[in-house]
Amino acid sequence: MAGTDRGDLTRTAILALLGTVGPLSRSEIARELDLSPATVTQLTKELIGHGMLEELDLKPSRGGRPAQRLGLVGSAGRALGVKVTADHLVLVDVRLDGEVLGSWERPHDPAAPDALEHLADAVESVVREISGVPPLLGVGVGVPGSVDDQAVGTVNAPTLGWQAMPVGERLRRRLNLPVLVENDVNALAAAERLYGRGRTHSDFLVLTIGRGVGAAIVADGRVYRGARGGAGEFGHLPVDPEGPTCGCGARGCLEAFVGSAGLLATARARHAQAQGGGRPGADPAQADARDPLGAVAALGRAAAGGDVVAREVFAEAGAILGRATAGLINVVDPEVVVVLGEGTADWPLWRTGFEPALRAQLYPGRRDISVEVESWDDTSWAQGAAALVLATPFDSAGAAGEQGRLVRARLIGAPS
Ligand SMILES: [Zn+2]
Repeated sequence: MAGTDRGDLTRTAILALLGTVGPLSRSEIARELDLSPATVTQLTKELIGHGMLEELDLKPSRGGRPAQRLGLVGSAGRALGVKVTADHLVLVDVRLDGEVLGSWERPHDPAAPDALEHLADAVESVVREISGVPPLLGVGVGVPGSVDDQAVGTVNAPTLGWQAMPVGERLRRRLNLPVLVENDVNALAAAERLYGRGRTHSDFLVLTIGRGVGAAIVADGRVYRGARGGAGEFGHLPVDPEGPTCGCGARGCLEAFVGSAGLLATARARHAQAQGGGRPGADPAQADARDPLGAVAALGRAAAGGDVVAREVFAEAGAILGRATAGLINVVDPEVVVVLGEGTADWPLWRTGFEPALRAQLYPGRRDISVEVESWDDTSWAQGAAALVLATPFDSAGAAGEQGRLVRARLIGAPS
């Protein structure tokens, strides 16, 4: 029935408005969405009845009587976020307002022949564990690779050894829940839109440093995905044709210098030079390959403890990243840059090289752009994946397609 469809769209628009700008009065909602006061009164009454909106404090107003503000109910829904890495899975259970209810870590071998079945087993066991109230709206999956379409979820991820992996299709069949799959950095950008910079900025960049280097480009409030879902592969920006071979097969990519393996290779070479030979004892390259993030953390502790060579390694990597970031800013013209990822733990060390290189290379008029580093923990990637689902009811652009409709249906409690 057309009237019902229009009512659903308007209810979604009201949720989207409150989900993105925060609590508002009924008259503010009517003004923002160009609706009649009677329509807003009727629809918000229904949403309060469904337990999705609540009446908050009275907002003082000049003149007339104070207006009652309406806000989203954080416990109206939850989503499970899953981050897939080269050796493990992280799962988090997140409420609509971003509060983390629980987290899990599971070993995972993406190269195993039954990797998808194992992934589905791990997700299914957690879904069983958390079933109940508030309702689970769906599962978001973040992968270090490109994804054709969030609502389809076919993954190409060289670092996982995955080519045309039907992640979304397999999980949907097993779980009978909406499943959205997205590049992990794009998923972080979705979380920024919902809970972070996206509330006040419609054009921004998300950069990640850690095992790899990534970027997400948010333009006009939407994540730019490119023709095949592969936009934002900032790590494969060419830096030096004579540089080391990158995981992608090309030479001298940004990631080959400043990803964790690149940082460690530089550190080994510099230490060998400084000492006139290799380090005694076990081959550090092998230990590094097993746990590159742990090895970078050790390098960071050495630098913080005054190791001059280690400090230089971070500063040089910072300078390479700063120049490349300036190029990206000059092309995209964002309002702000947000830096995330495991590597941000050592940001003060990166920053000494990053800042001067960035500012020197920025186009005039952009030299004062703000670069903001946010707090990071082991569940941050998976929280981004959950945000794919939690952002869907507020996404008027419909990036989640048919899966988004199913998420909205579960939120509103309508038969799907
Ligand atoms: Zn590359």
